[in-house]
Amino acid sequence: MTATAEKPDCAGSVASVSTKADVLVVGGGTAGAVAAIQAARAGAKTLLMEMGGQLGGTMTAGGVAFPGLFHAWGRQVIAGIGWELAAETVRRDGGALPDFTGTPARHSDHQLHINQFLYALLAEDKCLKAGVEIAYYEFPLSIETSAGAWLVECAGPGTRRRVACRQIVDCTGNAEAVGMLGMPRLRGEETQPGSMLFKCGAAYEPGREQLQAVYVHGADSSNSVTRTAANIAGRRAVLEQLAAGRLVHLQPETAFRESFRILGEVVITREDYVSGRLFEDAVCHAFYPVDLHTKDGVKPMPLAENVVPTVPLRALIPRGSRNIIAAGRCVSSDRLANSGLRVQASCMAMGQAAGAAAALAARQKRAPLDVPLEDIRRLLREHGAIVPGARE
Ligand SMILES: Cc1cc2nc3c(=O)[nH]c(=O)nc-3n(C[C@H](O)[C@H](O)[C@H](O)COP(=O)(O)OP(=O)(O)OC[C@H]3O[C@@H](n4cnc5c(N)ncnc54)[C@H](O)[C@@H]3O)c2cc1C
Repeated sequence: MTATAEKPDCAGSVASVSTKADVLVVGGGTAGAVAAIQAARAGAKTLLMEMGGQLGGTMTAGGVAFPGLFHAWGRQVIAGIGWELAAETVRRDGGALPDFTGTPARHSDHQLHINQFLYALLAEDKCLKAGVEIAYYEFPLSIETSAGAWLVECAGPGTRRRVACRQIVDCTGNAEAVGMLGMPRLRGEETQPGSMLFKCGAAYEPGREQLQAVYVHGADSSNSVTRTAANIAGRRAVLEQLAAGRLVHLQPETAFRESFRILGEVVITREDYVSGRLFEDAVCHAFYPVDLHTKDGVKPMPLAENVVPTVPLRALIPRGSRNIIAAGRCVSSDRLANSGLRVQASCMAMGQAAGAAAALAARQKRAPLDVPLEDIRRLLREHGAIVPGARE
């Protein structure tokens, strides 16, 4: 074979892209993919920006593919787009849903075992079918406001994008867009460990088993430097486990349990959570034990019988803000409440609520908190969600 001469490329290789959207969802993870699908299905022109190369976040890059909990005390409390995605993943994978009747001995018996690879495919497919534009490998560099719109400068390899949008939904897990705007975020001095998931031994059976996990103490998702350190620490810890057998599966990233939470218009406290407080502006349920991991492990504290916590819209709205909503594990809450709220079914439900509120706010040219609550709840119900309150 003869070598061909290559011409040097001096033309400049950065593509400039300009996007106008009603709703920009930043972060295409557990909450973000659902938020984008909801916003687009509600008719909003939606851009979903994900710094990785696939959707699903902690479920797919982190490999935490056992979403819970959609059911409580013998009834379904979270449905809608997250349930549609998770249940369809199980069905198309030939898997089986748990028996949801009654109350299981262990809460984990009601979690779904999903095939993380199929989930990423279906989440992307549903986004595209809903009309969501996806921008992988991109992230915001700066966010400014001008004449009631957001101007967001974004970057990716070889790309500079300028987004003009009415509403931002921050689903980055860390509330990164909120942080870029200089709005306050909450974070404990100590945070729960992250985990690196892997499998040693026989072949990995996605959707049929849980992966092994090593704790990554001090794992911090604040920025690329701390994320790099967490990935290196996680891989080193896996390397030390290899005596246990052949490595047949390793997730690409350490998964993070805790980072920044927004300081919202309401902060959900542990008392609110364990008492199942029905907030007057509740937009979804959450259900999981208080589940704080420490250096010594975790002792889940189950909720008392018939308690089902709720999430108010105001816990998704950064305090004093207009036109930005946050959803997912960064929900405004204290550490103990957050240790239960952060699970995947709840993140999906918050994502759907945020997507609905953002789409309506963009359509009505109002801030999300000025949209009549009944409009948001009606839209959520139309899209299969369960809204806490009288008409459940
Ligand atoms: C080890 C572990 C075990 C767990 N066990 C369970 C369990 O058994 N059951 C359960 O239901 N939950 C469990 N959880 C909790 C749950 O998985 C997470 O809290 C939840 O998935 C978080 O969802 P999220 O949407 O907030 O964030 P993520 O799913 O992490 O999504 C955030 C997304 O934003 C992207 N992003 C971040 N910054 C930017 C940026 N600047 N620009 C663009 N994109 C960005 C990320 O790449 C990612 O895709 C566990 C968590 C961990 C870590």
